[in-house]
Amino acid sequence: MGNMASRRQIHVGPVPIGGGAPVAVQTMTKTETANLAATMEQIRTVAEAGADIVRVAVPREQDAAALKTIVADSPIPIIADIHFNHTLALKAIEAGAHCVRLNPGNIGGPEKVAEVIALAKQRGTPLRVGVNSGSLPKHLRELEYENPVEALVTAATETVELMERLQFENFKVSMKSTSVPNTIASNRLLSERIPYPLHLGVTEAGTKWSGSLKSAVGLGTLLADGIGDTIRISLSTFHAEEEVKVAWEILKALKLRQRGPDLIACPTCGRLQFDMDRVVMEVEQRLEAYEDPIEVSVLGCAVNGIGEARHADFGITGAKDMGMIYSKGEPLKKVPTEQLVEELFKEIDRYYAAGKTVQRDETAAAEAREWLEQNEDTTAMTPERIAALEAAAAENDASAAEVLDSMLAPSSEMEPAGAGAGTNGANGAGMDETVSPVAGRRFSRG
Ligand code: SF4
Repeated sequence: MGNMASRRQIHVGPVPIGGGAPVAVQTMTKTETANLAATMEQIRTVAEAGADIVRVAVPREQDAAALKTIVADSPIPIIADIHFNHTLALKAIEAGAHCVRLNPGNIGGPEKVAEVIALAKQRGTPLRVGVNSGSLPKHLRELEYENPVEALVTAATETVELMERLQFENFKVSMKSTSVPNTIASNRLLSERIPYPLHLGVTEAGTKWSGSLKSAVGLGTLLADGIGDTIRISLSTFHAEEEVKVAWEILKALKLRQRGPDLIACPTCGRLQFDMDRVVMEVEQRLEAYEDPIEVSVLGCAVNGIGEARHADFGITGAKDMGMIYSKGEPLKKVPTEQLVEELFKEIDRYYAAGKTVQRDETAAAEAREWLEQNEDTTAMTPERIAALEAAAAENDASAAEVLDSMLAPSSEMEPAGAGAGTNGANGAGMDETVSPVAGRRFSRG
C-alpha cells in the first residue's frame, strides 16, 4: 500500500501532477466562460479557497476566444474542457490553455484526434484524456453490460494506446462513473495497468451533502491506497469554492496535504451545558480567515479535563456560565461562556502577534486551573474515557488497568484525562497521529 502513485509526471502550468507530487486540487467554473467578469471572479474565489488548477467549459467559439484573457489573468493554471469539437480544442491550445480535457472518443475520429495531438506536442500542452461510463465506444457495449468496470478500464487503456501510437505521453487519464464502487474498482485496475497520472472524480456526485460524502468515500478509498494524482469534487452548487473546500477536507483527513487550521470538536453528549452547535459553527467560520495550520479544539464540557485536547494549539471548553481557554493542554484563562469565542480569537491573534508564542498570564492561568478542577469529574464514564479504555484494552489488560487507575486517582494529583492511556492514546493502536501511513511519498506542498 501507499506507493501506487503514477510513475509519470506531467505539469499543468507550474503544477506537477503525478509521479509522487502532492495530490492537486481542481474544480470547474460554473459561469458562462465568455462572461469574463463572472468567470474571473469565480476563478479568483476558487484560487483563494485553495484550488491548484481550474477548468472552464469551452462549448462555443466565444468561450475559446475568452480563453486568452482568462489564461493571462488567472492566478492558477487553466484547463479547457472540450467536447465534440476538435476545432475548439485547437483554438484552446492556441490561446495558451495550460491543459485541454477531451474524450478522444467523441472528438470526431482518429484524424481529428491526431491533429489536436500534433498541436499539443508542438505547444507542449498536456491533455487530460478520459472516458465516461455513459459514453463507451460501441465495441465495448456488450462488455459494459457484463462487466462495467472492465469495460471502463478497457476503454481507458485503448485511449492510452491511441496516445502512445501518436507518440504522445504528456497526458493524464480519467474514468468517470456515477457509481462509487465502479469508480474505486476501475481506478484500482487502471493504476496497475498504466504509468500515467490519474484524475479522480465521481461524476454527478450530487448535492453538497450527499456529493461530499460519495466523493469522500470513493476518492478517499483510492487516495488512502496512494491512487490518484489530482481530484475534483463535483457538487450541484454554483459555488465552485465549496468543491475545493471538500477536496481539501478529504486530503487533510488522510494527512496527504495540509492547509489552514484544523478544527476538532467533541461530538457532544448529555453532559453538554452550552450551545455548542453555534459555537463550533462560529469558530469554524472565523478560522477560515487563517492560513496557518493551527489546531483548535472545542470540548462540550470540562468533565474530562482537557487532556483529550492536549495536541491542540488552542481550545475552549464551557459550562453553563463559565468556560475556559486552553493551549497545548494547559489552562490559559477562564471567561464567561458567551465570550468564549471572542476571547479565543483574541488569544489566537496575540499568539500570532507575538511571533507564534503562546502568551500566558500566571494569575489568569491559576484561576482557570482552579475552575477546571471544580468542573472536572475524573470518575465520569465519558465517551472519551470509554474510547481510551477500549483502546487500552485492545492493546493489553495492563494499560487498561492504568487508565482505570488514573480515573480513580484523587483529583489533586490527577493526570489529564487520556494521558492515562499512555502512548496508546485514545486514537488507537499506538499510531503516531501526526503521521499518515498513506502520506509517505508526498506530505503537503506548502
Ligand atoms: S463528555 Fe465528551 S462528548 Fe460529552 S460534552 Fe463532554 S467533551 Fe463532549
